[in-house]
Amino acid sequence: MDLLVVGSGFFGLTIAERAAAAGRKVTVIDRRHHIGGNAYSENEPTTGIEVHRYGAHLFHTSNEKVWEYVNRFTTFTSYVHRVYTNHSGVVYPLPVNLGTINQFFQAAYSPDQARALIREQAGEFDVRTAQNFEEKGIALVGRPLFEAFFRDYTAKQWQTDPHKLSGDIVSRLPVRYTYDNRYFNDTHEGLPTDGYTAWLERMADHPNIDVKLSVDFFDASQPLNRKALVGQLPIVYTGPVDRYFDYAEGALGWRTLDFEEEVLDVGDFQGTSVMNYPDADVPYTRIHEFKHFHPERAEVYPDDKTVVMREFSRFAERSDEPYYPVNTEDDRAGLLAYRELAKGEKDVFFGGRLGTYKYLDMHMAIGSALTMWQNELNG
Ligand code: UDP
Repeated sequence: MDLLVVGSGFFGLTIAERAAAAGRKVTVIDRRHHIGGNAYSENEPTTGIEVHRYGAHLFHTSNEKVWEYVNRFTTFTSYVHRVYTNHSGVVYPLPVNLGTINQFFQAAYSPDQARALIREQAGEFDVRTAQNFEEKGIALVGRPLFEAFFRDYTAKQWQTDPHKLSGDIVSRLPVRYTYDNRYFNDTHEGLPTDGYTAWLERMADHPNIDVKLSVDFFDASQPLNRKALVGQLPIVYTGPVDRYFDYAEGALGWRTLDFEEEVLDVGDFQGTSVMNYPDADVPYTRIHEFKHFHPERAEVYPDDKTVVMREFSRFAERSDEPYYPVNTEDDRAGLLAYRELAKGEKDVFFGGRLGTYKYLDMHMAIGSALTMWQNELNG
């Protein structure tokens, strides 16, 4: 073994694939019984409908290098993600666009009129100087839209004072003064034609790659553990950075998700793949209806059944799967301390959303793995 990769998500598999292609013998271990981290998907057994086990994963990128790379393992469908949101029993399009604004205010504003209105409703806040989630959100869409679509959704999603959350979270979403309601702005977008798991398995399908599942790096009773291997060979670690150091600098804030899945005896439950629920009186944040991610599979999917999943968000305990870094000021201080500790770990490279405590999308995780391979490991 020339390289050990801890974690088989997109970051880990990209490193493993590049290293294997360069002739290195790589072992990938994962604590879970399946490959792919939170991108893993599987077909719901009674309907055959592909379910993203850890919530909807939408692939999009404007990075040509990443796009070329991922196309080596899968083709992509022409799926374009659109999200709707059910506020007080009325459905609006997201991200906030001219359609949302005109529907909300029962008006027919032109782009310039809508811009002027939102500017007025943003009051004292300006996107260039906004300090946190709330200020940035109000600066972007004005107070009434912020309160309707962002305030309570974010309270459910993050359970953190919006003054303590980064403004970067809200600027993930575009605001458009046209009727364009594509969720993402990227050049390339689509879902893997044969599903996420087929894509992930193809990345790992190389004679130089050995994937071992249900193996915990921190379990000293099995040979591929931290104590035995750190310092012995290069290790790419993609698990939570605070876990690696036994929480020596305190636990970082992570959000986890719970899902309630249901197979329903209706052909179509909500007419779209993702419906958000931004109101405080609904406990979940959104409902995913998976058949809508693959309209091209209409022939093989049942027309009288559907699979829906309600998504609930909460703070992660140590035994939970972490999904999102909360990234408050305290967390950022903790992260800096962990980065200092990481410098002292000989030949251990921290990567991915969990290993770097960054809200990376899939294409960003792949892009940063390609860069790490090129700059730090391919020596
Ligand atoms: N958000 C919101 N209302 C919505 C959708 C998003 O308030 O209807 C906020 C929320 O704080 C969320 C952030 O915008 O965490 C980013 O949304 P995105 O859809 O990118 O989140 P993800 O799909 O990664 O959970």
